[in-house]
Amino acid sequence: MKAETLLEKRKEEIYALGDQLFRTPELGYKELKTKAILTELFERNGLTVKDLGFETAFSVTIGSGSPHIGLIAELDALPTLGHPFASKTDHAAHSCGHSTQGTIMASVLLALKDTIRKGTVTLYFTPAEEFTDITYRKKLIREKKIRYIGGKINMLTAGCFDDADILIHLHTMGQGAFHFSLNTSLAGFIYKEITFHGLAAHAAVLPHKGINALNAFVLFDNAMNMLRETFEEKDCIRIHGMIREGGQTVNSIPERVVYECYVRSRNETALLSTAEKVDNAAKHAAKAIGARASIRNTPGYLPMVQNRRINDVIRREMLKYCRLEEINDNEVSQAAGDIGDVSIFKPTVQFGYSGFAGSCHGKDLCVVDNTRAYLEPAKVVAGTVEYLLSHPTIIETILKEFEPRMTMEEYLAYVNG
Ligand SMILES: [Zn+2]
Repeated sequence: MKAETLLEKRKEEIYALGDQLFRTPELGYKELKTKAILTELFERNGLTVKDLGFETAFSVTIGSGSPHIGLIAELDALPTLGHPFASKTDHAAHSCGHSTQGTIMASVLLALKDTIRKGTVTLYFTPAEEFTDITYRKKLIREKKIRYIGGKINMLTAGCFDDADILIHLHTMGQGAFHFSLNTSLAGFIYKEITFHGLAAHAAVLPHKGINALNAFVLFDNAMNMLRETFEEKDCIRIHGMIREGGQTVNSIPERVVYECYVRSRNETALLSTAEKVDNAAKHAAKAIGARASIRNTPGYLPMVQNRRINDVIRREMLKYCRLEEINDNEVSQAAGDIGDVSIFKPTVQFGYSGFAGSCHGKDLCVVDNTRAYLEPAKVVAGTVEYLLSHPTIIETILKEFEPRMTMEEYLAYVNG
């Protein structure tokens, strides 16, 4: 029997699980109830849940031997004021639809459990994809419970995904015209906090005795604008920021100015080199007028590069449920996710599915079509896994061709700042 048939038979249970998880929104590293619901489901079906640490990360494996296909489902919600199912305490809501990922992937694994003959499938549940609730996460870092803000970054550096040959992930597209999306690139970003240090003096009587930190910032801002002509269109570079502190009092020369910004790009080499250009501009613009700049970098996520061979198989499955024109292929998105970091090291894909109304991260995001939001993407994943397991040469070719875009040493140097 094919997993597709089992999924069709079990669809009412799948929708009920989806509804239950959608009504159980929890912020990153706090997804305890979600984990308990899923653990109970797997254990009731005779599967063992493996705890992967980092508060709520876990995995479930079926089958044995190679190839080994990894599936990824995100656990977390994000603060969304006014969402109908938002938590009363921290406003956590599934306004990014991650609850549907858990539902789809859990259902896929339970169906495959009864159908696969050879090969291994591991489903990884990953916490804290959303870059939010930073104060709490910094506390977890101080307590050594996590090392990084993003869930998959912790799991990646701890080697959690090492056993998988390839990784399949999926994400809602929110409301839109397309049925599915494929080969979407995601941007990466680095968050910077740049402090310009000057020297306060009476602004009217003794300006010559002061060092104006705001002037250092203005010089730096001009340098950044001049750098913009060095950006290539293909890299989709964005620098956007704001002055958090522009001085201390209007009658003194500003002693300290704090500027926060994001550097974004869809190409990690361009991302890292642009971040370096920004740092150089800040340091040297400050130095030019006798001030000093100190820079604190917090790595966000790296750009997502999709594995096209896996997506060719996924497209084949999607076409069982829609026409080619209904697939948004090769979209360039400025959104970012920690799946981008995973794609540095493993052949990885993330496809998009529909069935929602409202906008992602908005208070109106909800499932309006169970078939599109749960059943079809589950059948697409299950069909893809079955096809890949019965055509082992595809994964062999993928692994032969794949080159990690960084070494782990380079990556650790980047995430550790
Ligand atoms: Zn999301």
